[in-house]
Amino acid sequence: MGTLHGRKKRRFLPFLLVLAALLLAAAAVFLLWRPLKGAPPAAEESATPGLTAEATPAENAVSAPAPEAAQPLQAGLSRYEAVLKVDADQMILYGNLRLTYVNRYAQSLFTVMLNLFPNAVSKDCLTLQTVTVEGLDAEYTLDESKTHLTLPLPRELRPGESAKIYLSYLIRIPKTNERFGAGENRIMFGNCIPIAAEFENGAWREDAYSDAGDSFYSSVADYRVSIAAPKDYTLSCTGAVEEQRTEKGVTTVLAAAREVRDFAFCLHKNAYTALRTVNGVEVAGVARTQKAAELAAQSGADALAFFSEKICEYPYPRFCVVDFDGSGGMEYPGLVMVDATQFNARQENYAAMIVAHEAAHQWFYGIVGSDQLNEPWVDESLAQFLGFDFIRSTMGDEAFEALWSYAFQKLPEYERTLRLDAPLTSFQGSDYFYVVYAYGAQMMRELYDALGAEAFYAALQNYVGEHRYQNAKGSDLIAAFSEAAGKDMAAWFEAKMEP
Ligand SMILES: [Zn+2]
Repeated sequence: MGTLHGRKKRRFLPFLLVLAALLLAAAAVFLLWRPLKGAPPAAEESATPGLTAEATPAENAVSAPAPEAAQPLQAGLSRYEAVLKVDADQMILYGNLRLTYVNRYAQSLFTVMLNLFPNAVSKDCLTLQTVTVEGLDAEYTLDESKTHLTLPLPRELRPGESAKIYLSYLIRIPKTNERFGAGENRIMFGNCIPIAAEFENGAWREDAYSDAGDSFYSSVADYRVSIAAPKDYTLSCTGAVEEQRTEKGVTTVLAAAREVRDFAFCLHKNAYTALRTVNGVEVAGVARTQKAAELAAQSGADALAFFSEKICEYPYPRFCVVDFDGSGGMEYPGLVMVDATQFNARQENYAAMIVAHEAAHQWFYGIVGSDQLNEPWVDESLAQFLGFDFIRSTMGDEAFEALWSYAFQKLPEYERTLRLDAPLTSFQGSDYFYVVYAYGAQMMRELYDALGAEAFYAALQNYVGEHRYQNAKGSDLIAAFSEAAGKDMAAWFEAKMEP
């Protein structure tokens, strides 16, 4: 572990050669970091430099400068600083990422794993150009799908310490009509910033990507992202837009987001934007028609207000609801994508329900994360029920029942063989929808009816309060409902899990 390019013994080289190598290395590192100049330096950059006891041995300093000392950051979050540029003619995203990775685990790390999900969507579409760790070229490895990048660290990363990782990469944007890829006048950039995998039971979680469902599991981090794109596109993204300028046909946006699990953005051509403000949060609806943009913004604002009142205040400054070419919807922190056809469908309430479902994910997936691969029901069944409960609260019982029947009309014909709490990989075809969404929502509805609205939402308030910005488990959710019910609900849940 921990082997990096350039860590070769050169102590016998003549002094002049050593000096020349030092100068060259310094120049190379200077050039390497230059692309990041667009992103303002973060506060920790100026933290007192100094080397820890594990500082690189002098012999290794020949081919690269001594790495910055890992600063123990008390309860610090990893920080992703990215400079992205979209070439919409060539359909290429150029990415530069500087990641200050903080070891928030209780044990030392010797490697860091990053997920390169675009390669799972379209083979080899993401190409790595430069990869360094602590300023040294990294002798990284990729798995067969090139989705999991393993970076050896030059030395042990103790709990609380941080390591600087730098990547430059390009992504050839495939036409997918999905959360990542180009569609009709829209380009979606879901999962286009490589983010750290989770470390569990002494190993990195090397989860397979899944098109069906959301195979994402991550920790919250801080992001500062600069995105340059042709000015004739409308840009929506996670976080707050801090700066925006247009020069020579290119609009550059600087966005910042704190305590989020991921960062996504998207570009819409010939789109309409509608804005609302609710509880000081700006809600943007972006869609192909003005009517759809208004519906997106209004439903988004109403859903944020509803869940803010019922669960806890939405903690971010902005929420974007955009249409896309995929089916259903897709949640990212502060940005959700909703099937464009739903906005113009006869069932207008259905579009509002999808928006509310994705808004509910801001709490369940966002504020409280969960293992979407092994326990997809935890956030998904809940979000599905909450989307409907939003409809009930805003449009009444009749609309709620009509929409429920419409959404789950084929459920009686479905023969269920899988447990509700089965992992994502065990679902084939429509199983996932019927089991996790339909039966999952049904289970939550029965729970709501049994406990009453007040206790049901009290459980969710406690669950969010206790696991805010962390990853929780299904057992934590059950414990929260047990507490609100005043009795152990484990057996009740177990009975519902069985087919
Ligand atoms: Zn969902």
